[in-house]
Amino acid sequence: MALLLLATRPSTALRDWAERRLKWAPLRDAAYGAAYSAAGWLLTLPLAVYQGFVREHAYGMATQSLGAWFGEQLMGLGVAVVAGALLVAALYAVLRRAGAQWWLWGTGVTMAFVTLTIVIAPVWIEPLFNTYRPVPDGPVKTAVLAMARANGVPVDNVYVFDASRQTTRVSANVSGLFGTAAIRLNDNLLERSSEAEIRAVMAHEIGHYAMNHIPKTLIMLTGVAMVGFLLSQWAMRRLLQRYGARWRLRPELGVADVASLPLLAAVFSTYLLLATPVLNTITRTQETEADLFGLNLAREPHGEAEALLKLTEYRKPEPAGLEEFIFFTHPATRTRIHHAMRWREQMLSGAPP
Ligand SMILES: [Zn+2]
Repeated sequence: MALLLLATRPSTALRDWAERRLKWAPLRDAAYGAAYSAAGWLLTLPLAVYQGFVREHAYGMATQSLGAWFGEQLMGLGVAVVAGALLVAALYAVLRRAGAQWWLWGTGVTMAFVTLTIVIAPVWIEPLFNTYRPVPDGPVKTAVLAMARANGVPVDNVYVFDASRQTTRVSANVSGLFGTAAIRLNDNLLERSSEAEIRAVMAHEIGHYAMNHIPKTLIMLTGVAMVGFLLSQWAMRRLLQRYGARWRLRPELGVADVASLPLLAAVFSTYLLLATPVLNTITRTQETEADLFGLNLAREPHGEAEALLKLTEYRKPEPAGLEEFIFFTHPATRTRIHHAMRWREQMLSGAPP
């Protein structure tokens, strides 16, 4: 995608057009960022159709018609265009002034943007795609509220969202940060699961909150991003020297030329691809922590195991060790069930230690 944008006219033509028409530099960068996001959406659309629609239907997980699915992709495009405009405007305002320290400032802007996205997602982005409603009064709600409050989660209600609109997947999540933090379950979980399973799953989610997994992830991601920007600085200097003229970039601007964004994105994406095992190990470690926290809180090892078995509808239960290390955001289901049974054996059955 980057190569196509760099080697053909539209990228630099857009930069030149924006320079002629728009007086204020951040507005020019925002226009470029919006167009770049839209181009990215369009060029990756075939892959999105395959991954998000064709393959989901092939596995019987999707519940949407092509029209409804595509409507959501268009909403996603809207979000991406706004986000792309804001991020590129902020990033290049900083890159123009930062000089040799641009990797440090780039990390700062990127992480501020990621943090802001996490804060606003439950309020402004996720409600675009799903409806969130309070769980009806009853034993499930009472049990989840009690577990949440006992562990310092500031909840006034338990929310369920209509994931069945898109998928048959059973799931729950913790989302948001600071005042927008919330724990929600999806309607597939609520409808298909026993009270013990729901308590087990929600205790796991409460664990993510109670152990501050979102702020901790943000701190670790800052380190990952910093290394990425440092490597990008090294790579960009060489790539711009070698190919800058061929791609009609402006060597005197270096990375501050907004038309070099596709190259920076390509370099940074390559780094993130190589960092996949690191990123997945960060989340996989937290998932193991949340599992143990959830077992201790809900005390429902069978509920946990039953819920985990439902996840095998969409998650390979017994990956090879290396496969798990590289690709898995969660521990192997087999391992997680083993943890639940180990907990049961030690804590409930009266077995000697
Ligand atoms: Zn989790």
